[in-house]
Amino acid sequence: MLQFKLVLLGDSSVGKSSIVNRFVKDSFDEFRESTIGAAFLSQTVTINDNDSDVAQEITVKFEIWDTAGQERYKSLAPMYYRNANAALVVYDITQADSLEKARSWVQELKNKVDDDSLVIYLVGNKIDLVSNNNDDQDKRAVERSVAETYAEENNLLFSEVSAKTGEGIKQVFQSIAENLYQI
Ligand code: GDP
Ligand code: MG
Repeated sequence: MLQFKLVLLGDSSVGKSSIVNRFVKDSFDEFRESTIGAAFLSQTVTINDNDSDVAQEITVKFEIWDTAGQERYKSLAPMYYRNANAALVVYDITQADSLEKARSWVQELKNKVDDDSLVIYLVGNKIDLVSNNNDDQDKRAVERSVAETYAEENNLLFSEVSAKTGEGIKQVFQSIAENLYQI
């Protein structure tokens, strides 16, 4: 079994804990308490090894550090990302400021973590708040194309998800596992 250390970073209230909770427990709380310091959880995914002669499934265990987004805990973050194999940098697609915060986390990771094998995944959360019939219900404040272009330019994986409905959550961890397995 492979083990990878994963850290979540991003502004407070973007849904970091909710994403972890969806992935680990497949549940969602509307009124979740903010994280103090950091929380540790783990979960596994299985990936297919198609390169070997005999197709086989590989179990990948994620050791997840869910950090608190508040400014007063910012100095603790290096402790969690220093030895990480992957970082989920989360923003809220209904809060433009949260993408700016995400960019600053990406910059910090690129400056402080000299390991090229760190997989950075930019995640836009809360897509359930965006309606498809573009009326007043649409709360989107960050265009998908803006975040996607930024991610491409900076070599980040990217997707939009909803911790509330579960849309896209499993795939994020699945593709991180596949990426890390290839490294
Ligand atoms: P964190 O501070 O980044 O860990 O954010 P939380 O996971 O504590 O979530 C902050 C708030 O956003 C909570 O009220 C959550 O219920 C809400 N939230 C989190 N994810 C989603 C989502 O995908 N959709 C919606 N509508 N609300 C969400
Ligand atoms: Mg939290």
